[in-house]
Amino acid sequence: MDEAPLSPDQAPDQAHDQDPDSALLLAGARAKLRPGLTLVATPLGAAGDVTLRTLAALREADLLLAEDTRRLRKLMEIHGIPVAGRPVWRCDSHKEAEAAAGLLPRLAEGARAVFASDAGTPGISDPGARLAAAVLAGGGAVSALPGPSAAILGFTLAGLTAERFFFAGFPPSKSGDRRRLLESLAAVPGALIFYEAPHRLPESLAEMAAVLGPRPAAVARELTKLHEEIRRAPLNELAAHYAEAGPPKGEIVVVVDAPPPDSGPAVTEADLDSAIRAALEAGESVKDAAAALAEALGLPRKQVYSRALELKKTRG
Ligand code: SAM
Repeated sequence: MDEAPLSPDQAPDQAHDQDPDSALLLAGARAKLRPGLTLVATPLGAAGDVTLRTLAALREADLLLAEDTRRLRKLMEIHGIPVAGRPVWRCDSHKEAEAAAGLLPRLAEGARAVFASDAGTPGISDPGARLAAAVLAGGGAVSALPGPSAAILGFTLAGLTAERFFFAGFPPSKSGDRRRLLESLAAVPGALIFYEAPHRLPESLAEMAAVLGPRPAAVARELTKLHEEIRRAPLNELAAHYAEAGPPKGEIVVVVDAPPPDSGPAVTEADLDSAIRAALEAGESVKDAAAALAEALGLPRKQVYSRALELKKTRG
């Protein structure tokens, strides 16, 4: 295996003598790929964003698995790593269990397998997690190497100061389901990170603005690519911009700041449901109950009304 570059005046033994932290760093840089399955992160756009350890893993693996084998081959070609007769298995989200079943006997013999998803980090809205879980369940070893992820890069670039974040993945495509998800996230005490398809961005932002209010937010588009763009503004302004400009092209991360600290105690779905049930049992109409509760709990009247209707229907 090629070693990670050392600074010219720094021999490993010297580093070990001088500074235990340097020794650890060097040991990590020189570590061999372990037997078992290793999940590796690959670039979102720029091929140079792959790490030295991931390249070494791709060079050393006995068996390669990829969500998109052509893409992995291309990345390896760019970095001068021949596949050289090694098996390359396709493992998309429908094939994780099957791939694990095929992999386990080889891992038991000491094979070193590497899995890369299409782009970014496996298991983050991508295959990898079920593959790893099935390998672990079958007694195999799993390791992972760090690298790019659009969620983290979007958060880093968003210009927000939230100390915590919640990764929400892709919101549902149906408006009602999306709204319910957003309502369930409104009180999360941290920033929210979403992936979104470009054609859904305008309607999604409009719904985020309606449910989450005018929080500071950012739309990060085509990160690390030629047309990288980041638009930072309150949610309502972002919604207005894309309503007028129309859906953008490319890949998108939306980051929304944490709720303001003075936004008061959160009303959970369970709180809302029990307040609605109590009002309906007391004989109030759906309309009156929704108006009164929306006012009392500081929630949008439409949200309370549609939930009250649903509960009324299930009560019969
Ligand atoms: N596993 C990947 C990761 O770690 O970022 C995410 C895979 S998910 C199938 C693809 C989504 O990630 C895209 O639809 C987009 O929301 C986001 N994404 C991926 N690459 C991106 C980029 N270069 N710029 C902005 N968003 C990106």
